Amino acid sequence: MINLIDSHAHLDHVENLDIALKESEKAGVSAVLAVSTDLKAMKRNLEIKKQYGSPLKDCGDDRCIKIYLGLGVHPGDIKAEELEESYEFMWQNIQDADVVGEIGLDFWYKWVRKDDAKHREQREVFRRQLEIAKEFDKPVVIHTRGTWKECLATVKEFGIKSANFHWYSGPVDVLEEIIKSGYYVSAGPALAFSPQSREAISHAPIEQTLIETDSPVFFNYPEEMGGGFTATPKDVFKALTAYSQLKNIAPEKAAETLNRNAIKFMKGLS
Ligand SMILES: [Zn+2]
Repeated sequence: MINLIDSHAHLDHVENLDIALKESEKAGVSAVLAVSTDLKAMKRNLEIKKQYGSPLKDCGDDRCIKIYLGLGVHPGDIKAEELEESYEFMWQNIQDADVVGEIGLDFWYKWVRKDDAKHREQREVFRRQLEIAKEFDKPVVIHTRGTWKECLATVKEFGIKSANFHWYSGPVDVLEEIIKSGYYVSAGPALAFSPQSREAISHAPIEQTLIETDSPVFFNYPEEMGGGFTATPKDVFKALTAYSQLKNIAPEKAAETLNRNAIKFMKGLS
């Protein structure tokens, strides 16, 4: 049986989490990195890590899913009135976190693209959190769309050692710079059909690639591929299938390297 690490999921948003994690464990998921998007998500994910995190009390001989934790405010989830409390929460609980994320910049939507105040706000929130990551030497999980170059430049400016540009679907020249900088990119189930994701991942060396689900995102798979589904961590196997076909690497072999990368990433190694 293949074991896999889901290196990006929003467990705080997954319905019937207990069942979803048990099914994922049964399917072969060995660990999940639970990333956060706002204060409520951080509190919930910290609880989830404490509840499920390894070592589990009554794990016995059964395999145990391990939960890693990311603390952060997502650029699309900024609520000005709770920002100070969010940073405070991060400072207070950073020792329980494995990474800072998901953080970044997103200027994708037209109403954001044209709004300078929104850009300034996103940049400020991003930088405040990179300061925390730098201070505690934590890896970062980056969300970025429409502003890949600036995002990478900011991460480098802070001297961050380990970063994952999650669900990377940006231009290849920025991808090459990400790889040169020793950072990672990740791919999810969309790799089966998204031209941008396929183009990027085909250029990324396996040693700097992670796989993930971004659960509970809905993936609009065409009927002939089984139809659309709301992801849970077990769907990281769909990402593995797409990855091994795209890169022409046996799934067992790909899984071994991808898992090793996920652990290296969370330990802050590149
Ligand atoms: Zn996400």
